[in-house]
Amino acid sequence: MKLFYGIALIGATQALQIPIQAFKRTTLLRSSKPADECGVDMTNPCGPDMEANKKKGGGAPPTTLNEPFELFDPEEEAKLQGTGDLRARLELGAKFNLASGLNSYYEFNKSPSPPDDVMLSPCQDFLEHLDDNGTSDPPMNTIKAKAPGVATVLGVGKLITEDAPGDIRHVVLSVPEGFHYTEGQSLSVIPPGVDGKGKKYAPRLYSIASTRYGDTYDGKSVSLCVRRAEYYDPVTGNVDPEKKGVCSDFLCNLKPGDVVDVAGPVGKTMCLPKESLSTTPIIMIGTGTGVAPFRSFAHRLFVENTVASHMYKSKALLYLGVPVTGGLLYKSEFDHMERQSGGKFEAKYAISREMANEEGGKMYVQDLIKKDGDMLFDMVDNEGAVVYFCGLKGMMPGVLEAFEGICVKKGLDFKEKMGEWKKAGKWHVEVY
Ligand code: FAD
Repeated sequence: MKLFYGIALIGATQALQIPIQAFKRTTLLRSSKPADECGVDMTNPCGPDMEANKKKGGGAPPTTLNEPFELFDPEEEAKLQGTGDLRARLELGAKFNLASGLNSYYEFNKSPSPPDDVMLSPCQDFLEHLDDNGTSDPPMNTIKAKAPGVATVLGVGKLITEDAPGDIRHVVLSVPEGFHYTEGQSLSVIPPGVDGKGKKYAPRLYSIASTRYGDTYDGKSVSLCVRRAEYYDPVTGNVDPEKKGVCSDFLCNLKPGDVVDVAGPVGKTMCLPKESLSTTPIIMIGTGTGVAPFRSFAHRLFVENTVASHMYKSKALLYLGVPVTGGLLYKSEFDHMERQSGGKFEAKYAISREMANEEGGKMYVQDLIKKDGDMLFDMVDNEGAVVYFCGLKGMMPGVLEAFEGICVKKGLDFKEKMGEWKKAGKWHVEVY
């Protein structure tokens, strides 16, 4: 059985009640103190010194590493954050987070102590305190729009192919010192310049597409998935460049080193459950850039080296709607997660212009929901699943109709059922 060593040790510790205090100090650290007050070297919070970690019977790897922190080359590698093969990205990641053992897998031989030759790999934990006490909210508005913080662009990469309609970009920003967020929150971006009345542009919100540790794994970056908003002239059918979206155009045109005014984070609606996350099935339904929070969820549950990821035992389903195959967002990452998750993660796509639904019409995300109706209903109603919707407002009528159809078939009142699910915290919608 292949497991991250972290899981194995936690399991063994719980089952056999063997005190492994030192490991707990590093892997299961829970503190309300800021990370740098927890004795964690913020220049490389997760990097183990592998030689020092070689300890018989389990011991604590040091949480500091004295090597310099080498940031990735955003020009080259930021593209891989979203578009490249995840394996390649993680390999490149090892270059910048220096945690050479961070993503290694170890063979666990069911012994309560690790064998002599096994090196411990500590989980990343310096940001777990952000929402770990079961009642606390995620960080909110730590930077106000009136006094925005300055973020620096690390990289921008186009996420879709040239033949796909529009332009969608993955934007990686280095955030101001002390700015933290959790998965499911949004970042406020204040575009430069003034509107037609000479007033500073209002902030625009963007769902955060990275986990709290960012794509750089150091807790110092935030990634966004931005569609360049365009206006199609109803007469000519062409894009009118005079009427482009102010903020999305600004974000999509950014170059490494550019600066962006930001505020936030905001939003609680889309956050992952704090209680019993490890056993909660997660259903994610989205269109286009609505995938952003789901990328952060999927990285949290299936990629990063944290207790949240190690302990996740349940199932996460992603339903994503896009117009053409070239418009599939983060597909290589999701493919990789599907392969690595042992069946715990599954992504299903509705490609409207290329796939047909059962009636021979275009395949939209609601058609996938109709098809999986009984299973989804059962997951939410009986298995404690939590369902999230994100994307354009226009997706909701079709999606609601699909869920209503499932309820009608079962002789149930949909509004009543949805009310029940909302009350139980199982129904989360963020559409724009
Ligand atoms: P604006 O300048 O505000 O223009 C809006 C629209 O009007 C554009 O389509 C523009 O082309 C059109 N327009 C401009 N001038 C004219 C004119 N004279 N006549 C007619 N039309 C005109 N977006 C994302 O891409 N990714 C996300 O992850 C994301 N997450 C969000 C999360 C939340 C909670 C919310 C509320 C919104 C989110 N959005 C997201 C949407 C985002 O906040 C912006 O609304 C979007 O980027 C458009 O802003 P803009 O400044 O580019 O366009």
